[in-house]
Amino acid sequence: MEKKNIDWSSLGFSYIQTDKRFVANYKDGAWDEGVLTSDPNVTISECACVLQYSQSCFEGLKAYTTEDGHIVTFRPDLNAARMKDSCERLEMPVYPEDKWVDAVVSVIEANAAYVPPYGSGATLYLRPYMFGSNAVIGVKPADEYQFRIFCTPVGPYFKGGAKPITIRVCDFDRAAPHGTGHIKAGLNYAMSLYAIMDAHRQGYDENMYLDAATRTKVEETGGANFLFVTKDGKVVTPKSDSILPSITRRSLVYVAKEYLGLEVEERPVAFEEVKDFAECGLCGTAAVISPVGKIVDHGKEICLPSGMNEMGPVTKKLYDTLTGIQMGRLEAPEGWIKVIR
Ligand SMILES: *Cc1c(COP(=O)(O)O)cnc(C)c1O
Repeated sequence: MEKKNIDWSSLGFSYIQTDKRFVANYKDGAWDEGVLTSDPNVTISECACVLQYSQSCFEGLKAYTTEDGHIVTFRPDLNAARMKDSCERLEMPVYPEDKWVDAVVSVIEANAAYVPPYGSGATLYLRPYMFGSNAVIGVKPADEYQFRIFCTPVGPYFKGGAKPITIRVCDFDRAAPHGTGHIKAGLNYAMSLYAIMDAHRQGYDENMYLDAATRTKVEETGGANFLFVTKDGKVVTPKSDSILPSITRRSLVYVAKEYLGLEVEERPVAFEEVKDFAECGLCGTAAVISPVGKIVDHGKEICLPSGMNEMGPVTKKLYDTLTGIQMGRLEAPEGWIKVIR
């Protein structure tokens, strides 16, 4: 297979149209067969439920080339299961999980020429999503839905090494108790846009959201979960019903315990504790882990001992082990790697 003529190492994180995408439609209570199509455009009613009342959810995962030349993807069954949870919370019809994974595989196969080569640091990012597509003016769920998966090649997240970032404690809330913070709904992102732009205007890379009820506990950022490391080498990650269950974070917790023999605590984390941690990282599909060097709480700086130049040693071990598993350099736990070809 001839790869597309793309300078993989200079790719950023932006949309590049590829050859094929998957589209399935839900109507009269059932999903159709779904097709791969060359048409990148969506045509829907001006009154579509997604446009009026934001009835939409999405997923994000990657395909890449392993050291031995296979095209693979990472734990797509967990993305399928998470999208099921999102759909149920938003009164949307679930797309069957096994067919969901098959559709992801078909999109990767159809766009294999866009899967970046091993060693480039680039990956093929897949974006499955669903939205209410028919006209709805009274507030209620749509009757018709579209499920789509497109993909776009994205560049290495860390160009020239993983530089620690500076984040701030945010005065806005991301998710209410008993709200929608635990599902991957577009609406969670709409309301975070002002907060992230405001953070950038103030010179910060990201927001640390606290729990909305008491503002004493660490939740997550707009799109990544927190991992902390204590001074005695324990991994600590916040547990809360309003955090989005990151697949990267869940995988890192497993890696910490089973590959690195570290102690892991998944529990509520008081913001008060943060000043005592040795390392901090943000985990998500995009970066795997981005190291945090500094956390600013209304002018008060918490400087992590790992500093502003490189990842902390435990964070680095976690990062190297999980990316080693993903890239086929280390043996993966059963079921983690789905080989496409
Ligand atoms: C997608 C997402 C994450 C990261 O999840 P991964 O499955 O690791 O990519 C974390 N927080 C939020 C709010 C998200 O939407």
